Amino acid sequence: MEPTDERTEPEPTFAGETVLVTGAARGIGRACAVRFAERGATVVGGDRLDQSETAATCAGLPGAFESVTADVTDPAAVEALVERAADTGRVDTVVNVAGIVAREPLATHDGEPWERSVAVNLTAPFRIAREAAPHLRTTGGAVVNVSSIYGQIGAAERAGYVSTKAGVEGLTRALAAELGEDGVRANAVAPGFIETPMTEPYAEDDAARERFRERAALKRLGDPEEVASVVSFLASDDASFVTGETVLVDGGRATVE
Ligand code: NAP
Repeated sequence: MEPTDERTEPEPTFAGETVLVTGAARGIGRACAVRFAERGATVVGGDRLDQSETAATCAGLPGAFESVTADVTDPAAVEALVERAADTGRVDTVVNVAGIVAREPLATHDGEPWERSVAVNLTAPFRIAREAAPHLRTTGGAVVNVSSIYGQIGAAERAGYVSTKAGVEGLTRALAAELGEDGVRANAVAPGFIETPMTEPYAEDDAARERFRERAALKRLGDPEEVASVVSFLASDDASFVTGETVLVDGGRATVE
């Protein structure tokens, strides 16, 4: 038989399922929301920014998108966000994408970026997972947290980012341990350089972009959709025996010389 590039396996489907995605207004969160809606899920997106572009992209897809304005550092907003998802009748997957990166040289910063990083990147995913856990235990659902290669390697002037991303990988393992007996899986993805509004300032000139490209074995930057693919895999039954894992999505940046 001639080899063919055509996919023969059916795509994982999330029809009839509810997926909560934070940071869904743009970047990786938007790509995740669209991916799940393409595959039939009702997606409840939580972001402090306007999510109308995500809603517009999802319109006409097999699933649906519902927008909730929420600052994930606000416990009441998190409660309301999870409640909104549960109001659909079930919560199958929680994807913690909302995150921030702040520059904080040890010599000059006053501790504020550190506090903010902890609140957004670490405390919020914990709080959302805790609020959603009773619902996830019912569905035997999944948590997917978004870490970073900087959860695994250091970076100067990024103490808050590096520490909270390492922390979210630990949180992922703790959730896997605690929720596993109810069939709930918890995994993380650790992206390398992905072209989103977050990384725009880091790749503003061609020389900087070239340096980032050179560092990856694949010699290119990543797209948000390439992260969404791995997130949806980890949320799907195709990953039914995978839990407590962090998957690098970095084009070989962190592991290849
Ligand atoms: P992005 O373009 O900045 O999108 C992040 C979204 O999260 C924004 O809409 C942002 O809104 C929102 N958000 C931030 N803090 C929030 C809060 N307190 N409450 C609610 N929403 C909040 O970033 P991205 O590049 O897509 O990154 C998404 C995730 O991937 C982050 O966790 C990031 O650390 C991680 N990551 C990204 C890369 C990359 O290269 N892009 C690499 C590794 C890991 P605001 O603008 O208001 O903050």
